[in-house]
Formats: sequence, C-alpha cells, structure tokens
Amino acid sequence: MNTEKTYAAYLDQQDDLKSFRDEFYIPNNTIYFDGNSLGLLSKRAEQSVESILNSWKRYAIDGWSEGAQPWYYLSEKLGSMSCELVGAEPEEVVVTGSTTTNLHQLVASFYNPEGRKTKILADELNFPSDIYALKSQLKLKGYDTSHLIQVKSQDGNTLNTQSIIAAMTDDVALIVLPSVLYRSGQILDMKTLTYEAHKRGIIIGFDLCHSIGSIPHHLSEWGVDFAFWCNYKHLNGGPGSVASLYVNKKHFGNEPGLAGWFSSDKEKQFDMEHTLTPAQNAGAYQIGTPHLLSSAPLLGTLELFQEAGIKRVREKSLRLTNYLMELIEAELSGYGFTIANPKDDAARGGHVFLEHKEAARICKALKTDGVIPDFRTPNGIRLAPVALYNTFREVWQTVKILKTIMVEERYNKFENKRGVIA
Ligand SMILES: *Cc1c(COP(=O)(O)O)cnc(C)c1O
Repeated sequence: MNTEKTYAAYLDQQDDLKSFRDEFYIPNNTIYFDGNSLGLLSKRAEQSVESILNSWKRYAIDGWSEGAQPWYYLSEKLGSMSCELVGAEPEEVVVTGSTTTNLHQLVASFYNPEGRKTKILADELNFPSDIYALKSQLKLKGYDTSHLIQVKSQDGNTLNTQSIIAAMTDDVALIVLPSVLYRSGQILDMKTLTYEAHKRGIIIGFDLCHSIGSIPHHLSEWGVDFAFWCNYKHLNGGPGSVASLYVNKKHFGNEPGLAGWFSSDKEKQFDMEHTLTPAQNAGAYQIGTPHLLSSAPLLGTLELFQEAGIKRVREKSLRLTNYLMELIEAELSGYGFTIANPKDDAARGGHVFLEHKEAARICKALKTDGVIPDFRTPNGIRLAPVALYNTFREVWQTVKILKTIMVEERYNKFENKRGVIA
C-alpha cells in the first residue's frame, strides 16, 4: 500500500474521467463525499433548467408541443435517456413521481394477492419509506402488517442471499428489495434473486436508489418485473427531482393500479374519454401532469452519464472506494473503526461504511474540517467518493483529516448526537 500523497496525485493523473469534475459546481474548500444523499449541481443541469424555463417564457401553453424539448414527451424522453443505466429498453423506463409514490404505484399494480399467495417479502434493513409504503398497501388490501415478511440480517449490516431465497415461501405474492443497502452499501444479487423468485411464481421488484448512476444493471436480461429509483443521489438531478420507474415489457398493456390521465396512450389522451386507454409502455404508470421544472435538471445530468458511460463510472468508483478502504486500514487501525461495507468488488456499492461508537461527533468534526460525510444512526459514517467529481487526492486528504481528528480527539468538542437531518 502506497500511502504517499504523490501516489494519489498519480492516480488522478491516470483517471480518464478527470475532466468531468469541471462540469460540476464543487462547494468552496469542501471535500464533498455525500453524493449518495444529494449529488452536486452540474453546469449542464443548470442549463437544462434554464432551457425549460425559457420555453415557458417563449412558448407559454405551446411549450407542450414546441421548442427543443416538448414537455408532453419529456418524461418518456428522459426515461429513454436512462435506459442504459439500468439495462432496459427505452420504452421500459419513464421519469415520473417520487421514489415512494412510484413504489405505491408499482405495488398497487403488481401486488395481486390470490389464494394462498397473499404476503409481501421485504427485508429488515431497507429504507423506512419503502417499509411504510408496503405496510400501507397491505392495509389498503385489507391485510394486517403480519403479511409483511422482513428477512433478517445476521450481522445487522448485510443480507444473505440464501436467507432471502429461503423466505420465498409459497404464501409470498410479491418481493420488494433494495439493489444496494443504504447503510452498508451491500449489492444484492439481483440476478439470482429474480431467477429464484420467478421459479416460485413470485413477482419481484427492486429499489435502485443507491445503485442508479453508481453501478451497471441488467434489469431486462435478468427479467426483473419492476424497479424504481430517485434521481437526486448519484444521478445529480437536484433536490426533490422527479424519480423514475422501470416496468418489464412483458407487463405492457396492463392497467396501472393507480390510474390518471397521464397513464394514457399519448395519441388518445386528449380524446378526453372516461375509459382509459393505457399507454403500451412504462408511461402507463404515470398519473398526472409531469413536474417539469423538477425533471429539467435530468436532461443535462443524464447527458453527462451518457458521455461518461456507466461502465467507466463503476470502474473508477471501485478504485476510489478501494483506495479509501486501504488508506483507512493503513492509517487508522487502532482508532476503533470497523469497515462495515462488503469489501469485495462484486458486493460493494458506491460508498464506504464505517462504524465507530463516536460516529455522530466524528461526522461533526469532519464537517468542521471541510469534509462532508453523512451519519447514519446509531454509529455509521458513510463516505461516498463519487466517480464524476471526486478525486483520489480528496480521498487521501480525507483520511489525513480523519486521522488528525482521532489523534487529537477533536471530536470531543461535539455532542455525540445526530442533528434533525442526518
Ligand atoms: C433515498 C431513498 C428513498 C427516498 O424516497 P423519496 O420518495 O425520494 O423521498 C427511498 N428508498 C431508498 C432505499 C432510498 O435510498
């Protein structure tokens, strides 16, 4: 392990994605390692927002059909721009709703309890919003929450593929799991899980919030039934940007569980009939008028991903997280940290997850020293060096700062308590 700063500089020099950093607004004097919570603004995204505002200024109502990006087709267009990121065909993806409302839509569409098959299978480590949504969908169908099975974790951080498969009993109708766990960054084996679910006649969908824009996916090839994700984390779509969903084309032509006029076939929509003719693609899972101003940044940011290519993004991301883990092991052993993310490339997502009993105040000390991590209760520090805008030198610098904080016990100046937002 070479721990010299010059080696970090050498790695930056070799980086074939290095020019992308200039596309972004990097906050002054800051090492931003929180792109897995809220990605940074790019100049491209800023321009695409301006362009949509200008079409409103210039065309008013005619912006729906005129201008460089007619609004009526924007959700589908952004979906097709995203399809390579998930390994899907262009018509299988649409940009719409929010992560959680998309989950509601997809469960309302794909959860059809019948006979013995009435349960939903999830896990105990997923993001709370997903679990709340699943429980409320069960209630709407007249079941109590004992119908939600949550696969247990052995170590509190990761899930075992075999335990998930063992939980696919014959009373399960639907499975919803994350692609990458939000705390530990573990990648689940979506291919195997989909294969095993289908062998048992179970529909399966994935929440890609922590994998989209960070790792490649092959949803169509794996035969995944549906997926959904937010666009404001690794994809840099901006705070509250519109989310996305994927529906495998074998399900095209069905009515969505939650219908609205934007579920319509686009040619029929303005016939204003009271019988819905659903779109014959993922667009059928839209509900109402798209949130154009919050979709607009995606035009610019997805273009950047098309230029960089998800394969190169993933390769650099693995190098960054590997370098970070090696430096932590070399410089910070004996200071009470545990690297709690999976270490091998196949199971490691886009961030490093450290556990430490003083995690909350170590995060505060890092922020004071210009490094932005995020804290996850009760004892987790997530560090996400992002391929498009972070550097190997920043990784080196971060470990150096963290070491000073530990050696000088600078975290003692802070309370070991999380803020309202953490
Ligand atoms: C970020 C995230 C969400 C957020 O849901 P919103 O509806 O966008 O607020 C949901 N699920 C997971 C797994 C997430 O990581």
